[in-house]
Amino acid sequence: MVKRGLYALALILAIAGGLAWAPLGSQPVSAVGCASPYVVRPGDSLARIARLCETTVAELRAANHLTSDLIHPGWQLVIPGASSGAAPVTATPVSGACASPYVVRRGDSLARIARLCGTTVEALKAANHLTRDLIFPDQLIALPGGARWLPAPKVVIVVVDGWRYADTFGDLSHEHIPHLWNDLRPLGAWHAAIYNLGQTQTAAGHAAILGGVWQPIANDGTGRPTAPTLFEYYRKATRAPASETALVFNGDPHGKAGQWAYSTAAGYGAAYGAQVYHSDGDGYDDGVVLAAALGALAQHPRLAVIALPAVDEWAHTGDFAGYLRAIAGADSAAWQIWQALQSDAFYAGQTTLLVTNDHGRQLENFTQHGGDSLSEQHVTLLTVGPRTPAGQEVTTPRTLRDIAPTVGALLNIPTPLAEGEVMWEVVKPARGN
Ligand SMILES: [Zn+2]
Ligand SMILES: [Zn+2]
Repeated sequence: MVKRGLYALALILAIAGGLAWAPLGSQPVSAVGCASPYVVRPGDSLARIARLCETTVAELRAANHLTSDLIHPGWQLVIPGASSGAAPVTATPVSGACASPYVVRRGDSLARIARLCGTTVEALKAANHLTRDLIFPDQLIALPGGARWLPAPKVVIVVVDGWRYADTFGDLSHEHIPHLWNDLRPLGAWHAAIYNLGQTQTAAGHAAILGGVWQPIANDGTGRPTAPTLFEYYRKATRAPASETALVFNGDPHGKAGQWAYSTAAGYGAAYGAQVYHSDGDGYDDGVVLAAALGALAQHPRLAVIALPAVDEWAHTGDFAGYLRAIAGADSAAWQIWQALQSDAFYAGQTTLLVTNDHGRQLENFTQHGGDSLSEQHVTLLTVGPRTPAGQEVTTPRTLRDIAPTVGALLNIPTPLAEGEVMWEVVKPARGN
């Protein structure tokens, strides 16, 4: 009697939530026949389910955005062509509904979510690698046994090291950034007033972009971010393998840029770090990074950060002509990356490209940066993608801290420790998907 009551309650909750949900602690709903969604049983394989449902492994993988053949008991799979219940993989989770991922509402606690979803606080913490009971509004909580969730949108961030506003977007001729200015800018939005208000150094600048927090960290190759990076937020929220992320750079994987793959933040760290792609060039040629980036994008990461070092390297040598050539090279690299995204069905129409830089340079001496002059703090941002209205010049002051929460909004993932604000001017309501 008690058991029946619980089952009825579970059923009511499932119906109230309007979402496919296997009541935990009872039999899976589709233990034998082929239904959509299909609840994976112990011992199931994609091949077995494909036979049962008269489809193919390739179609199952495509319909469920699976990047490998690995499945787990309790997952719910969309069966292509079958009459469907609700799709288990959603691009926009509903706040407060008992589905995986669960979207935390204001006032929620793990205990409340556990009660609502028929599980325990311990199981929730284990499934989400949580070390504490602390949760945040809009945080995504995976339910034990729930299907993996993948956002449809993708984000690629190109970070040019240390170009000066006066030589790029602030140069009225724009002669060194012809592609960004003439080809990409009309497709999206550029920020005329965006600043690095932390340390105007390379490691701290990249950490601010990746984490949305000013972090005065060492610039000598030992400065790992202290606040979680977007890679960690993405992988923690979606349970993604590292292969869905990419950090592309030039040089030692344990050196300065390699440090940006993950932070030292509690509850985050290496387990959620980026897949690293590095080239072994000398830093003076962004062409080798571009080649590594195109190779990385062929692996279809959903969040990629590409660091181009040549502009800063040339500037430090004092060769102004070489510095300007490097700016043109970075401009060309960003344009080729955009073209590569448009020619790949995985990315085309679903990907936002952000081109920015970590810091500027002194106005009176282009070889120097690291101080707090306006020319060192004034950076650049160009955003192009399906949710960014075309042809905008944004004059509202912004900072590098605003990039991480904005990327979080684009990917539908929470960035709870980021201190910046979402730049809603480049994240308009999604069109189509
Ligand atoms: Zn730099
Ligand atoms: Zn430098």
